[in-house]
Amino acid sequence: MSDTAARLREVLQAIAGVARDFERAPESVRLIAVSKTKPVAEIEPALAAGQIDFGENYVQEAQAKWPELKARYPKTRLHMIGPLQSNKAKEAVALFDAIHSLDRESLAKELAKEIAKAGRPPELLVQVNTGEEPQKGGVAPQELDGFLSLVRDRYGLAISGLMCIPPAEHQPSPHFALLAKLAKRHGLKELSMGMSADYEAAIQLGATYVRVGSAIFGARG
Ligand SMILES: *Cc1c(COP(=O)(O)O)cnc(C)c1O
Repeated sequence: MSDTAARLREVLQAIAGVARDFERAPESVRLIAVSKTKPVAEIEPALAAGQIDFGENYVQEAQAKWPELKARYPKTRLHMIGPLQSNKAKEAVALFDAIHSLDRESLAKELAKEIAKAGRPPELLVQVNTGEEPQKGGVAPQELDGFLSLVRDRYGLAISGLMCIPPAEHQPSPHFALLAKLAKRHGLKELSMGMSADYEAAIQLGATYVRVGSAIFGARG
């Protein structure tokens, strides 16, 4: 077994273990294997081992790697988890099965336009800036109500859930708890939270998608 396949299996086992500890069905937590910066040759063992969901941060990089891989592994679900520029909406709608970083009206408008043209709606999650960090993407928690109404009512977009990236220097759990509370208040079922260092805490607090990169593919260069 390749190192990647072995680490993937360990992460899947850890996810299932934590889910059971918190009386959740293991299949209620989906692992997104974050393959940003990793070449096709290093992604392939994870695909061969049966991994379905993958995450990328950059449209151009994903365009260079994934059309070929998706053709060979057609069950793949590709997730855009990085900041998305409005002028990349067309390419993102064509390539990704889910977009986790919807966070502003200009992007909602472009996505709605491209989804209508493509007739292919990716799953959409709204990113929430739970730490209210100025340099980070995401809707401020107090602006979420208004933003959700706007994207639904003005742009007709269906939102499945919320995503957050807690500030690096904070304990993540209060951020995960806040995101879970906001999702519950709005009746949203998906919670995209937790990375290599903190996915266990995220599962404890209700994550339905965990985004794990380095624990599977090794450190990024
Ligand atoms: C890179 C990245 C991840 C994965 O991070 P690891 O610490 O390598 O698991 C998860 N989510 C987002 C938004 C990322 O940019």
